[in-house]
Amino acid sequence: MSQKIQRPKGTADVTVSEVYRWHYAENLLRECARLFGYRETRFPVFEHTELFIRGVGDTTDVVQKEMYTFEDKGGRSITLRPEGTASTVRSYIENGEAQNGAPYKAYYIVPNFRYEKPQAGRLREHHQFGIECFGASGYTADAEVIALASTFIKKLGIATKLRINSIGCPHCRPAYHKALHEYFEGKKQELCETCLSRLDKNPMRILDCKSPVCSAIAEDAPRAVDFLCEDCASHFEGLKNSLTQMGIEYEVDTSIVRGLDYYTKTVFEFVFSGIGAQGTVCGGGRYDGLIEQLGGAATPAVGFGCGLERLLLAADASGFVFPEAPTCDVFIASADACGGEAALRLAAALRGLGVAVETDLCSRGLKAQMKNADRIGAKYTIVLGESEVNNNQAILKNMRLKEQTEITLEAESIAQAIQKGQN
Ligand SMILES: [Zn+2]
Ligand SMILES: [Zn+2]
Repeated sequence: MSQKIQRPKGTADVTVSEVYRWHYAENLLRECARLFGYRETRFPVFEHTELFIRGVGDTTDVVQKEMYTFEDKGGRSITLRPEGTASTVRSYIENGEAQNGAPYKAYYIVPNFRYEKPQAGRLREHHQFGIECFGASGYTADAEVIALASTFIKKLGIATKLRINSIGCPHCRPAYHKALHEYFEGKKQELCETCLSRLDKNPMRILDCKSPVCSAIAEDAPRAVDFLCEDCASHFEGLKNSLTQMGIEYEVDTSIVRGLDYYTKTVFEFVFSGIGAQGTVCGGGRYDGLIEQLGGAATPAVGFGCGLERLLLAADASGFVFPEAPTCDVFIASADACGGEAALRLAAALRGLGVAVETDLCSRGLKAQMKNADRIGAKYTIVLGESEVNNNQAILKNMRLKEQTEITLEAESIAQAIQKGQN
């Protein structure tokens, strides 16, 4: 026998018996997106590396440490997508979406790739549900994006705290950067090497360094909310009022800055305390400068990203029971060769009527076939043999209720009996 091959570190399989959980969650996310008027967009798994350097920010952990970057056979630098926003912006610009009017509202459910230390709910290949709203500068857009997240989090029974913050805009940020720079300059000898390199370029990044020493220093750093310009301050007040109007509870947490460079004004996180130390199940914010930075016209933008692995973990930890997908409606067992042929004919006819049918594929005896019907959770069984075929009659057995009904071997009436029994 050849040696077994294992999946790469930091990846996961979704097995056939678990996939119903993913289907349920994905359908729920799609339905919530529809309720808020978001349509799905799709884009490639890999992009030019330049997109993420410019779109995510070259001082972020993602770009500095975590990207899967390689040269393709044509000598281009290619990167596996580490997050969805930059790709959505690239697609928005490239396809001239602005011509179709504002706001542009899109969602996606995609795999992302980051070379980081694998932990619960945080894989090197993880799946993200993201939404983006481009072309709306008002705080009601921020509120709508938050409301969408709040909707599916609640539907999955996950109790979270919504934390919001404002980190300002290009008008008020220089003063804040200056204050941060002065503060961290005084603690220079204690900062980690990465943060030292960030000090001059982007001192805000030090605020979300994962090193315990840096985060302890960051706790007493100046707060962005104290430096907001009039526009940013009134935007933040408007957001708070809008959330209250929609009945969404929140708390202001001035320590939230988010790990990417492109955020402006609003940032937010839905935090769940049940999964490990860091329990953010969904986070996002406004990034009014990003579209211009990637070559489009200046366009306001707001959105969020939500890791599906974490979302499922949080739902499990909250005791949410994912409903199992419908299984086999009817298993048609065959008692002999004649019954086997009849089973194939009846299965074909029933499937044509939308009934999920399985038949014996392993040349088993009747007893083993019935055991298999149990294993796959068949709702009904029919046994066909020469006498059933000759009499054009058989027994339809309801496996759950253990009820038996005599039926004629006619697909439409059998389908009706099955559909009736399921109501
Ligand atoms: Zn501002
Ligand atoms: Zn640091």
